[in-house]
Amino acid sequence: MNDTTNATHNDNIGHNIRHRLDMLNQKISEARKEQPNLARDEVTLIAVSKTFDAPAIIPFIEAGVKNFGENRVQEAMQKWTPLKQTYPDCILHLIGPLQRNKVKQAVALFDVIHSVDRPQLLQPLKNAMRDQNRDLPVLIQVNISDEPQKSGIAVQDLADFITLATQTYQMNVIGLMCIPNLQHDPSPYFAHLYQLAKQHDLPHLSMGMSNDFETAIRFGASYIRVGSLLFGQRDNKEENN
Ligand SMILES: *Cc1c(COP(=O)(O)O)cnc(C)c1O
Repeated sequence: MNDTTNATHNDNIGHNIRHRLDMLNQKISEARKEQPNLARDEVTLIAVSKTFDAPAIIPFIEAGVKNFGENRVQEAMQKWTPLKQTYPDCILHLIGPLQRNKVKQAVALFDVIHSVDRPQLLQPLKNAMRDQNRDLPVLIQVNISDEPQKSGIAVQDLADFITLATQTYQMNVIGLMCIPNLQHDPSPYFAHLYQLAKQHDLPHLSMGMSNDFETAIRFGASYIRVGSLLFGQRDNKEENN
């Protein structure tokens, strides 16, 4: 490709992405109108870029997307260490399971952690944040549809866990996150998470993906995590959940 066709090619990609973003933003504002009492000042779109590489991500940054989500620390480090140097305004959200041996790296790279899902993470997280002088906001992942194989705090343990995280470990817990059972209508789960957040006075709710973000917004989501609708289908074998 010579420079001219290359530029045209890039313009087309940019146009395509802006179109997808416009459509998505349109749907977000429609869904917000259906919220019973417009409780939210804003809904933050997290573009889930897992499995996609930097050249696929950059056009989204250039189209104005600031918040990105990744589910694997290792993969995120490789892509986002250089990307964050070039685009320091990007805000990176960890939305996948965190292993204890990756906590330091995660605290160094990410800006928000949505997947605090067990007591054993609290001490390592606190230590890493203290050592690095970073006080990251975190969300607690709740196993809202009570699936045995799924990560997340059980609903009946949530009150104790919040106390442990906020009092004992002095963590900055800003909200709750869930990934409901994909086979069911998510509405009752989103409604339940909303009630739990309200009960515990937590302002943020991270819920809703490509297939159900509109429902999630109607039930009060403040963060929606949208991947395939923006980036296209992922290669399944690359995924771990
Ligand atoms: C992959 C992933 C998403 C995005 O899923 P899509 O269906 O592609 O929008 C959202 N949240 C979590 C936790 C994920 O792992």
